[in-house]
Amino acid sequence: MNKMGMLLVVSIILMVWINSISAAALPVYAPVAVSMDIQKVSEHVYYVKGAAGTATENSGFISNAGFVVTNEGVVVFDTLGTPSLGYLLLQKIRSVTDKPVRKVVISHYHADHIYGLQVFKEQGAEIYAPKGALEYIGSAVAKERLEERRFSLEPWVNDATYIVSADHFLDKDTVFELGGLRFQLNMVGAAHSEGDMTMYVEPDRVLFSGDIIFEGRVPYLGDANTRQWLQSLKQMETSRLTALIPGHGAAARDPNKAITMTRSYLEYMRKVMGGAARDFVSFAEAYAKADWSAFNKLPAFEAANRRNAYQVFLAMEEEILHGN
Ligand SMILES: [Zn+2]
Repeated sequence: MNKMGMLLVVSIILMVWINSISAAALPVYAPVAVSMDIQKVSEHVYYVKGAAGTATENSGFISNAGFVVTNEGVVVFDTLGTPSLGYLLLQKIRSVTDKPVRKVVISHYHADHIYGLQVFKEQGAEIYAPKGALEYIGSAVAKERLEERRFSLEPWVNDATYIVSADHFLDKDTVFELGGLRFQLNMVGAAHSEGDMTMYVEPDRVLFSGDIIFEGRVPYLGDANTRQWLQSLKQMETSRLTALIPGHGAAARDPNKAITMTRSYLEYMRKVMGGAARDFVSFAEAYAKADWSAFNKLPAFEAANRRNAYQVFLAMEEEILHGN
């Protein structure tokens, strides 16, 4: 090799090296300026609480996530609404333990709970989701939502954000152990979403409920199957719980109270809207006549209630007319 050739090789090596250090120095996830305080719930269980608000408020930090520290690694439950928030959650976990994140359990595939997944996937965590999530992954709805959030939650959701699939799609109750702790994953089925799952941390008697229970705010019904949802709430054994961590809102020390709020909201919706559908009363009339005083002081009432009611009205028509 002549002198020019040598020079060329050296400068290429130098360029590659400089590029690699500048790439490593670049923050992978745009930093997010929200306060995220870890709350310790029990011996092994922690969670972070999103603000009460709509999907794009508080930089998208509007849902909860939790983690369980065992001596063989960490189990994370839900991953928040942007990769940046997921990354911040990982930093918070790192402030408690340097054990690896082994498993991530996703309550349901909705944007506010899954966009942080890629951070944990990159850590090599194994991901569990309810089987219904398969309907969401790859759907037009999922694609449109991601496009919309790339706009409304920019720069935290951007072109590098993608929907991570799960390693395990569960269709029945499943138990696993890590570091001597037993975890029960309970299938709720198609309730708040196409597939919902809860996680019960046995020794601590703490339940992560995902979005089938909303604490202190009006639930978001979306396309929920309220009949199935109500059924699973009625079956829930809550007397043995020391705490319930909902998908939104504070951890409930009185789990029965938390369940009662969501349950009475669903029951009332189905009663009022079902009655209207049965008597061929129009939605507008039924909505105007209904007494919302038990719920209209709750956060998210203005944003969610009318749409929720309309969804239930249509679903009740369907149930009454077609018996399904
Ligand atoms: Zn949610």
